[in-house]
Amino acid sequence: MPMIGARVSRAEGEKHRKTLLDRGVLDINFKIAYDGDFIIFPLKEEISGYDLVEYNFLPLEKRKTSIREILSEKIPESYLLKLRAFDAIGNIALIQLSDELISYQKIIGEALLELNPFIKCVFRKDSIEGKYRVPKLELIAGEYTTETVYQEFGVRILLDVSKVYFSPRLSEERKRIASLVKKDETILDMFCGVGPFSLMISKKSNPKKIYAIDINEAAIYYLKKNIALNKTYNIVPIHGDSRKEIKNIENPDRIIMNLPHSSFEFLPDVFSTYKSSIVHLYAVSENINSVKKKIIELSSENNKKIEFITERTVKSYSPNTDIYCIDFAFS
Ligand code: SAM
Repeated sequence: MPMIGARVSRAEGEKHRKTLLDRGVLDINFKIAYDGDFIIFPLKEEISGYDLVEYNFLPLEKRKTSIREILSEKIPESYLLKLRAFDAIGNIALIQLSDELISYQKIIGEALLELNPFIKCVFRKDSIEGKYRVPKLELIAGEYTTETVYQEFGVRILLDVSKVYFSPRLSEERKRIASLVKKDETILDMFCGVGPFSLMISKKSNPKKIYAIDINEAAIYYLKKNIALNKTYNIVPIHGDSRKEIKNIENPDRIIMNLPHSSFEFLPDVFSTYKSSIVHLYAVSENINSVKKKIIELSSENNKKIEFITERTVKSYSPNTDIYCIDFAFS
């Protein structure tokens, strides 16, 4: 249906737009029209002093701002409630979907691309499995690409999401550990992945040396690239099994054990190899006390004294379990 418009010269367009807006007559729900050297502003009502014309203005589409808003007409509400937050790793999004949502994965992926212009592709992430803790991925929207650069607190991390483990959800934890490191400490990062802990410590603290071990060759390949990218040359990348490799490494001041499903299995090796150190041990468990109990048991089996320093819940892992970090000293 034709509406009333105010026709002004293009040269004076901005001046008139402000005037019409100030006087409360500009209808911001419709698109401004262009006609040669003229602009036609959609009006709510007539106004004197303007060349008034009738015009079929196009309505302005309101930009949808949340994923629920975009998907509300396409996916049943009860399913939408199960939609979890996605992880952005550089320009790649990873999202875990419950069984009900898998048949809607394409529209969910496209909605994520629409809302986040910096995201170039979206993968559905299944459970993380195997020795290398690598996720099973399926492309659900955008162009297939798996290598990206992620940034946190000034650290740049190049990685391939299909070949290595990486979680942006541990960034605060990495910052916390780096803040504890004192000048000239020697650090051992026993399950380093592409090096997020080691890189953050090297960049933000002032350690003497960081030994970073991983059994996944691809992780060490990217760690080497990341050392060059961040100029963090006091990191020593080691490809191998920590159980064996630690035997050739000097007694560290601090040990990071971020292999939450099986960190415990490596504690006897740590206790038998080193005299004393501080350990940051990550473990998946139903409660924090059973993690501490296990540490006490293993330390006494290996004739070590334990002093707990701090403990915290890092993130939830499954409906019944969390990932905990226990900081303790042994001697
Ligand atoms: N710390 C890294 C991070 O925060 O991104 C990686 C953590 S990921 C949960 C555990 C890593 O341990 C994987 O990269 C895996 O390849 C490595 N890993 C598993 N068993 C290992 C072993 N026996 N020796 C060394 N690395 C191992």
